[in-house]
Amino acid sequence: MVISGTKIKTIASETIPDTCTFCGSTNCIDIQVSQKYSHVFWIPFFPFGKHGTSKCNHCKHILEGDELPDAYKEVYLRMKLEHKAPIWMYSGLLLVVLLIAFGIYSGNKNDEKNQALIAAPKVGDIYHLSTPNHQYTLARVNGIKGDTVYLLWSNFESDKLTGLSDILAKGNEAFSDIAEPFLLSDLKVKLEKDEIIDIER
Ligand SMILES: [Zn+2]
Repeated sequence: MVISGTKIKTIASETIPDTCTFCGSTNCIDIQVSQKYSHVFWIPFFPFGKHGTSKCNHCKHILEGDELPDAYKEVYLRMKLEHKAPIWMYSGLLLVVLLIAFGIYSGNKNDEKNQALIAAPKVGDIYHLSTPNHQYTLARVNGIKGDTVYLLWSNFESDKLTGLSDILAKGNEAFSDIAEPFLLSDLKVKLEKDEIIDIER
C-alpha cells in the first residue's frame, strides 16, 4: 500500500506597515507564503502550488487566499515570485530520476560485461537462458575448440528468473552429461536476442 498525500509549509513571511482592518493596529500584519507539496511515504515528492495567508500579530485574525484585501494580495504576489519552492521538496522526484539513471547505467555495464564474456568463453561459464516456452534455464561451458563452444544444458527449468539460483545450487546434477556444440557466432546472436540473459563467471 502506497501512503501519499499533500502537506503545506510556510516558506516566507514579511511584516507590512498596513493597519489591521479588525483591531486597527499598525505594523503587525504578517503576510505568509506557504508552499504545497505532495509526499509519498512522508518523503517530499514535488511542490505544486502556493497559498497566501495574513495574520495580525495583535488580534491574531487570519485571512487566507481570496479573503486577502488587495493591498495584502499585492505583497503576497510579489513574495510568491521571489520565493521558489525549496529543493528538498523535490527529494522524491530526484530520487526516482537517480534510480532510473542508475538502473540504465548498471544495465549498460552488465551488457558490456556479457558481450566481453561471450566473446571469450571459458570452461565453467554459466549462461542464464530464456526458453521459447517462457521458462528459464542454465547452460554451462564444458569445452572450447576453435569457434565451437560445448555446452552442458541444464535438465531443469524454472518459470521465474530467481529460480535459476535454485537450479545452480544442485551443482553437477543440474546439468546434462552430454555436451552440445554451438558456434561462437550463434551464441553471440543468442545474447543479442536476449535468449542468453546473463553470464556468470
Ligand atoms: Zn488585528
